[in-house]
Amino acid sequence: MTRWRYAAATDTGLVRDLNEDALYVDATLAVVADGMGGHAAGEVASDIAVQVVRDQFAENPTVEGLYRGIETAHRIIQADARENPEHFGMGTTVIVVGLTVDPSGVRSPTLFNVGDSRAYQLRDGAIRQLSEDHSVAEEWVRMGRLTPEEAAVHPRRHQLTRTLGIEDMLEIDVQSVHATTGDRLLLCSDGLSNELSTESLAQLASAPVPLEEAVRLLVDGARAAGGHDNISAILLEFDEVDETTVPIKRTVSTTPRTPETAGEGARRPRRPRRVTWRSVLAVVVLLVVAGAFVGVMHWYAYSSYYLGNDGGRIAVYRGQPHGVLWFKPVKVLDTSYPLGQLRPADQGFVRQTIEEPTLRAALNYATYLHRSWALGQPSASTTTTTTTTTTTPGTSPTTTVGG
Ligand code: MN
Repeated sequence: MTRWRYAAATDTGLVRDLNEDALYVDATLAVVADGMGGHAAGEVASDIAVQVVRDQFAENPTVEGLYRGIETAHRIIQADARENPEHFGMGTTVIVVGLTVDPSGVRSPTLFNVGDSRAYQLRDGAIRQLSEDHSVAEEWVRMGRLTPEEAAVHPRRHQLTRTLGIEDMLEIDVQSVHATTGDRLLLCSDGLSNELSTESLAQLASAPVPLEEAVRLLVDGARAAGGHDNISAILLEFDEVDETTVPIKRTVSTTPRTPETAGEGARRPRRPRRVTWRSVLAVVVLLVVAGAFVGVMHWYAYSSYYLGNDGGRIAVYRGQPHGVLWFKPVKVLDTSYPLGQLRPADQGFVRQTIEEPTLRAALNYATYLHRSWALGQPSASTTTTTTTTTTTPGTSPTTTVGG
């Protein structure tokens, strides 16, 4: 029977006016959500996430129940943002550990993550990050484009590639947590992990003091380091842990993907008759080599996206800006942001094209650029002529910057 003790704390920090983080913890569930969006919209999004996950898990305390909870929260946030223009663009991260019941009736910890809130495991003073951040810089580290050291100071380390409530499709990381008695888990928003080094986190979170005190030390540490963002932390300590009989580690999507190349391998050209074995082999080898070359070039040509100028508006293209061989970039969609509604420097960058790893990242960045401009505008009446944004000056800068 898995059991944990718990403590939690959240703090507005020293810079923000509002606390848009939300958290919840009890004997079987721990949730941290870091909301973002103009005015108080981030608070709405993070509250929805925490409440819906809690309610759905109470009804169905399984991996499926938690997954449904996160998916439902995502849909509710989207619907709320559609109905309330002042909530446009709101979103939230969510990180959850639940003691889920598996088909054998075993209760064990399972971790769910969307965004850049984090989960760490602490054992004998050592620390290990369990969650992967869904930020542009961290995705690039996983793709080998940046080193972890470069990512730590990269200007886009806070730009999220996954959030509840923003894009239609949602991808959720799910993994079983392998723990032993005495292990601690730390769930936190980036307001904690950005302020403190991993070493400090390890030291404070494993301090041999009651959990309430350790959580207080963490929050005070982040405040002392500047408290630039809302700070939230939950500490769990296992008194007893069972291992699930069906361990999981995967990413699940809310909409199924259709494999583009399904069935392609089934059809092979028939071997022509009355030709020598040797010539057939030569042709086959040639075709395989040529095919592989074209395949690799095709993959490379369309492996990324970029923002560019299309007749005075920002458009999202798939491909390499100058094309590769005969693979020309393809326009995927038009954003509604005119180039003229960007800061002058950003207009130049868009004209030169800005590469992005995913479509979502591209869209997020376009929104971010537009909002950065909108923030600098003198009054609401001159802010925007687009239909997809209601951002006004004074709105917090972006839906994509969680930091
Ligand atoms: Mn934050």
